[in-house]
Amino acid sequence: MRVGLPRALLYFKYYPVLEQLFRSNGWEPVVSTPTNKRKLEQGLALCEDEVCLPVKVMMGHVRSLAEQDIDALFVPRVVSLERKRYFCPKFLGLPDMVRCSLGNEIPLISPTVNLSWSRLKIWQEGLKSCNCLKPWRWWLSLNSAARIHRRHLQAGEPVSPGGGKRVAVLGHCYNIYDEYVNFGLLNTLAQLGVTVLTVENFTREQIEEGARGLSKDLFWSYGRDVVGAAFYCLARGAADGVILVASFGCGPDSLIIEIIQQRFARFDIPLMCLTLDEHAADTGLVTRVEAFVDMLNWRDVC
Ligand code: SF4
Repeated sequence: MRVGLPRALLYFKYYPVLEQLFRSNGWEPVVSTPTNKRKLEQGLALCEDEVCLPVKVMMGHVRSLAEQDIDALFVPRVVSLERKRYFCPKFLGLPDMVRCSLGNEIPLISPTVNLSWSRLKIWQEGLKSCNCLKPWRWWLSLNSAARIHRRHLQAGEPVSPGGGKRVAVLGHCYNIYDEYVNFGLLNTLAQLGVTVLTVENFTREQIEEGARGLSKDLFWSYGRDVVGAAFYCLARGAADGVILVASFGCGPDSLIIEIIQQRFARFDIPLMCLTLDEHAADTGLVTRVEAFVDMLNWRDVC
């Protein structure tokens, strides 16, 4: 069975697990090609204006997959991937948005994903959402996916070990790793010779250490990781500068930007916020990033 897997949202963080789950259950993953102008326009046409950019991009990928030769489309309803922490409501409503846009054009596989459930309940939910899964095979693949996921959560090498100033680029994985959406931000920084760190370069312990600096804990998984990494940079001097990448129209981002800006105002590590939307232009973004890196370099001279 050929199953469409949109190259958007959580694909950027969980693709090793997803591809393994697909293949071990006999599905052929058909991953959409990287985001481009056409996909973004398709997404814009399917969404209300106030929807955040990453969801518009997701809808563009869904539309482009629906035009391909696939048997089903995988759009999970992601509730939680860690205990007592949750994803924003857009993740919960995503299968409904897709169904509303595509109608019955293509069958959807949309299990509810809540890792605070027991392994047994997750297994049952998978069987309920797709009747072509073989129970024993599905159980084994869940176990090996959990192992891959644990390995994948280890902190990785810096994205670009440029050797110059260390710049932490913090934000949702789908904003940081989708080059079309962020106008090649990581490449731009690499060309400027800086060492780029992302949330994935911080260990769980480092993020937890940073997040302990919050006066009230956050229950948004991603937002908390970003705040934890930013606060860790402040506490341990782990970066020379921080670039916060947010989406226009994102509720959780508007909160975490405020929290991080207030904390950074009291310290000496430069912070820059980039807000992405469909109207942003690469020239403005590149100029701001170049100026930020120049400023970091001049700080040594002054
Ligand atoms: S967290 Fe923000 S950017 Fe991500 S899907 Fe929700 S509203 Fe959109």
